[in-house]
Amino acid sequence: MNKKTIRDVDWAGKRALVRVDFNVPLDDQGLITDDTRIRAALPTIRYLLEHGASVVLMSHLGRPKGKPDPKYSLRPVVERLFELLPEATEVKKTEAITGPAAEAAVAMLKPGQVLVLENTRFDPREEKNDPQMAAELAKLGDVYVNDAFGTAHRANASTEGVAHYLPAVAGFLMEKELAYIGGALSNPQRPFVTVIGGAKISDKIGVIENLLGKVDALLIGGGMANTFLLAKGLNLGDSLVEPDSVAVAQQLMAKAEERGARLLLPVDVVIADAFSAEAQRQVVAVDAVPAGWRVLDIGPKTIELYSAEIRAARTVIWNGPMGVFELEPFAAGTRAIAQAMAEASANGAITIVGGGDSVAAVEQAGLAEKMSHVSTGGGASLELLEGRVLPGVAALQDAE
Ligand code: ADP
Ligand code: MG
Repeated sequence: MNKKTIRDVDWAGKRALVRVDFNVPLDDQGLITDDTRIRAALPTIRYLLEHGASVVLMSHLGRPKGKPDPKYSLRPVVERLFELLPEATEVKKTEAITGPAAEAAVAMLKPGQVLVLENTRFDPREEKNDPQMAAELAKLGDVYVNDAFGTAHRANASTEGVAHYLPAVAGFLMEKELAYIGGALSNPQRPFVTVIGGAKISDKIGVIENLLGKVDALLIGGGMANTFLLAKGLNLGDSLVEPDSVAVAQQLMAKAEERGARLLLPVDVVIADAFSAEAQRQVVAVDAVPAGWRVLDIGPKTIELYSAEIRAARTVIWNGPMGVFELEPFAAGTRAIAQAMAEASANGAITIVGGGDSVAAVEQAGLAEKMSHVSTGGGASLELLEGRVLPGVAALQDAE
């Protein structure tokens, strides 16, 4: 990564204004159901505190539509942060985001203390990347730190705009995400294999296109494989297919051939007579899907084929489940990919998982710990895989 990080700053007595991604899932009672994102920000916060800084944290939470909404207050996050960060002499919260109240709260902060501003999306100017809001935020710190990888693909006032008003550097989580995903894309150990799945090809065309120029093999699964199979003239019964994307699928297959990247499609599939866990199901070859049936997972031969590719790889990136893994009878393909990646990691390969549902599947399988890197940003990791520059990263200072 060619950006400055928090290691490049002398923090003694400075106020760090840190954008984190505390956009955690909450249940009906407003309780945090998964605090992974809060934990992921701790190394950066700890480093700043240990090096004599005071820390002002800002984040969005949910989609509060530009006005205060108690449902999306950062209060529960502050409570959890307090438990996770006993070394902070104090973790305070303010109702304010910018303006005199926020400035007064910040002025009271001492080194070793943490202040959390209220949800940045309570201000309608946040998502418009309003320069006035960015300038107001900049008054709350001496140096800006962006550690919110999961939001770095959005140019908001707290993720991009503010970086124009203060010295701006990356936090450790941001650095790690960019090092793993960026490193794999720009300088992979080969063989470099990617596994792409998920519901729709139309969501992932940019990703496939970019990867085709870099990978040795691309393994396709999930609903999107159906459209590739359709493009090869096969009949998919009642499966999810995107007839409008058949031409694109054909172009992608031609491009793979041109680039010398092997594009693999399922050879067998699990089909069901309804979209339901209780449906009847069977395993068939991809050219034998009867009318009235739909493809909901990859089959055992495909699992074997893909697993062998993954185990032989030195770098593996995976985005998108192989089947409707939310329904247990159709989760085997997705679980097998996670297992093969865990084995590849054990053999010294770099293994990376990105994408909200894929990460959930890996966690469900209890295999997250076995991966080299599990990305905290679904959308942001997809944009990196598409070869895009994230605005929140571009705005940071270049390393010398
Ligand atoms: P990610 O969040 O990891 O990027 P996506 O959002 O692209 O993944 O895709 C995940 C969704 O794809 C899941 O909800 C899963 O049920 C669905 N899916 C996977 N395979 C199929 C299939 N054969 N038919 C219909 N939906 C599928
Ligand atoms: Mg998803």
